[in-house]
Amino acid sequence: MKTYDYLIIGAGSAGCNIAYFLQQNGKKVAVVDREGIAGGASGAAGAFLSPLPGKKNLYNSFVNDALEFSINFYEKLIPEAVDKKGVLRVANDNFNQEKLQTNSINYKYFNTQELQKISKNFRDIDGYFYEDAAVLEPLIICNKLLQNCDFYIKDIKELTFENDLYKVEDIKAKNIILAQGVSDSLAELPYMKISPIFGLRVDVKTTTDIPFNIHKSISVSTNKHNDTVSIGATQQRHDTQDMKCETTCDKCAFYINTDEEQIKTLLSQADELIKLEDLEVVKTYKGARATIKSYFPVIGKIIDYESSLKRHPSISKGTKIPEDSLEYYPNLHVINALGSRGFVLGPYLAKILSENILHNTPIPKELSTQKLFYKMARAK
Ligand SMILES: Cc1cc2nc3c(=O)[nH]c(=O)nc-3n(C[C@H](O)[C@H](O)[C@H](O)COP(=O)(O)OP(=O)(O)OC[C@H]3O[C@@H](n4cnc5c(N)ncnc54)[C@H](O)[C@@H]3O)c2cc1C
Repeated sequence: MKTYDYLIIGAGSAGCNIAYFLQQNGKKVAVVDREGIAGGASGAAGAFLSPLPGKKNLYNSFVNDALEFSINFYEKLIPEAVDKKGVLRVANDNFNQEKLQTNSINYKYFNTQELQKISKNFRDIDGYFYEDAAVLEPLIICNKLLQNCDFYIKDIKELTFENDLYKVEDIKAKNIILAQGVSDSLAELPYMKISPIFGLRVDVKTTTDIPFNIHKSISVSTNKHNDTVSIGATQQRHDTQDMKCETTCDKCAFYINTDEEQIKTLLSQADELIKLEDLEVVKTYKGARATIKSYFPVIGKIIDYESSLKRHPSISKGTKIPEDSLEYYPNLHVINALGSRGFVLGPYLAKILSENILHNTPIPKELSTQKLFYKMARAK
């Protein structure tokens, strides 16, 4: 039986990145996933890395810092899986002209004539071009991140902790990190309510030269290294109890038989942006993004909600108890709720979490498990 310093459950962007950062710091790391590497949302992702425009606030500053860090990180890690040609953002209801102009990120405005000089295939659109944007090959990235870690295909049903070690089937580990995406958490985390948002990506072949990524309500990538173009992604939320996603979305009743129509919609939305000639659908991917209400992802030690409240009942009346006086599950961390930006946030969050685990560097409040814990405890 092998013993690891860290066992990561979930081999998506979250799990692969935290595995990489810990392994690079000399830790012995294993990763398990029931679906293989990037078999969940991460394999389905269009994996666009784009800035979040708009007036500066806590959330878009966080996303844009993460973007800068992550593009540099991926380019150093595996340049051949990164296409960095920028993104053209076309205004829509969520991001109107004003929002696209009012920000601290450099951009260049292109009117229709200017765009059609770049490619005659551009439709009658105009937009804002941001240089620091890219698109990735998610499967190649995740595999590369795990190249020095052990990986096992396993469906983990429960965690047992005895004599300072977790035992997960035939693996022992001193520490566990849950990176489970939309799947039911292996630890009680009542304060982190994950809602799945489903989406679809279609990879196509086309003879059209697409100079950069284009984003309106959907995204169309530039021609990627592997000669395909990714088009994604629809957003469908279903978080009512009876539709709750228990496994990956391929097996989710909600999702079955919706493909044909969605592929058609995606392709026609793409066609409103740029004419794609000799179009051939190569492959479609489905996945469910893990989101929570606050939009911020969540990283850190897992607090035992019931025991913490039992020990400090006054928390529910607003008393602030020092974080290290709360009750935590032993050697158990989480990295989740990466939402629609799992590849933008993955490396940045993994860096913050690994520095917290290894050097006790504080985790920003807005990303912490404590923030959600206190919120729920007080609401009750
Ligand atoms: C269609 C679509 C398009 C997207 N486009 C983009 C994009 O352009 N840019 C971007 O940055 N992000 C994008 N995203 C979001 C991004 O994919 C997610 O934020 C990211 O993949 C989440 O990574 P994760 O590791 O948290 O989850 P996942 O990739 O879902 O990984 C979780 C893994 O945990 C495994 N698991 C869970 N429980 C267990 C268990 N008990 N035992 C074993 N294995 C377990 C699952 O099998 C799964 O593989 C998109 C998502 C979708 C669905």
